[in-house]
Amino acid sequence: MCRRTRLTTKLKRLLISRYGFVLLTACLVICMNEIVCYEWMVMTWPNIDSLANKSTVRKFLLVADPQLIGEKDEGFFGLITRNDADRYLANTFSRANNYVKPDGILFLGDIFDEGLSASDDEFNRYFNRFDTIFQYKSRGNKSIVIPGDNDVGGEYYGDKNPYQRQRFSSYFGRMIQLYRQKDIEILRLDIDLRDDYLKTKQSRVLEETQSRPMTSAFRIVLNHWPMLTRSATFTKSFLHDLNPNLILKGDSHHFTIHLHDRNRSVTEMLAREFLPQPVLPIDVAQTRYVHEISIPTCSYRMGVSRIGYGVLLLDTATKSAHLTILSTPRRYGYLYVYATYGICFVIGFIFMLLCPGRSIVTYPRS
Ligand SMILES: [Zn+2]
Repeated sequence: MCRRTRLTTKLKRLLISRYGFVLLTACLVICMNEIVCYEWMVMTWPNIDSLANKSTVRKFLLVADPQLIGEKDEGFFGLITRNDADRYLANTFSRANNYVKPDGILFLGDIFDEGLSASDDEFNRYFNRFDTIFQYKSRGNKSIVIPGDNDVGGEYYGDKNPYQRQRFSSYFGRMIQLYRQKDIEILRLDIDLRDDYLKTKQSRVLEETQSRPMTSAFRIVLNHWPMLTRSATFTKSFLHDLNPNLILKGDSHHFTIHLHDRNRSVTEMLAREFLPQPVLPIDVAQTRYVHEISIPTCSYRMGVSRIGYGVLLLDTATKSAHLTILSTPRRYGYLYVYATYGICFVIGFIFMLLCPGRSIVTYPRS
């Protein structure tokens, strides 16, 4: 028998042996959980080519609440859970980034889960993980990162500390900043749930905008916390000062769209969890209306079932805006597959020890 035939025979014997069966099924499970599910996810994303390929369209990838798992709260399995959550974010983000090829990436706060309680060394390690997952430093000024309550506080009384805000700024830039590019203005803000706009933020915001409302076709505010569902005085003065037509936020972990009618001073919810159509046009032409869009979390650890990334497409020629959501897999389902396989493996291993045998089927010797 030639060498090649002997090798083929040995391989066939290995595959039909008990060890071969275990190896083969393990490879299939890993392949499904780590590759196939992500590739399948990409195939279900809405087709944005007709808009995205236009030279006048600016594309933004919206990333909300990645909440990188910290080093204190996870206990004994922290290393495993952190690695899995980081790998999930890297796998989904890299595919979303390739799919959209964005001109800008907007991070809508709560970057870290334990940013508030982190020491300087821990914060630096968290930042390095963030950089590895999202390639933040290598993208230069293409990304804007705003803070959330898990990064700098602001969710309840007494959790704010000027040092944490300063530290966040030293990594991600100023808290309040206006970016202008052609017909697009983007104002990053940090107005938390406890801030009184008129008392604590108005003067600093007006300093940045030189006391002029925004005037471009696309006047976008980034703020981790909601702006339209606060008191009438807050909303009215904020809208009067800045004149935005789009507010992008995170924090809730859910996807919602709120519409504020400035003439009637009322806010209503237009969508929750699901987009009415795969690629939704957003009316930004009428100064009367302001849209506030809450982007779902991209982390499977946040306890919500619908997770993913937002995509905002702004056509500077037609002055039209479109929004879509790129949903990402529910990781827990795949972790359960691993757990089930692990249990079957242990049972099978015990069975093999108790009933030693060479193969599942008898293969003729040559
Ligand atoms: Zn938050």
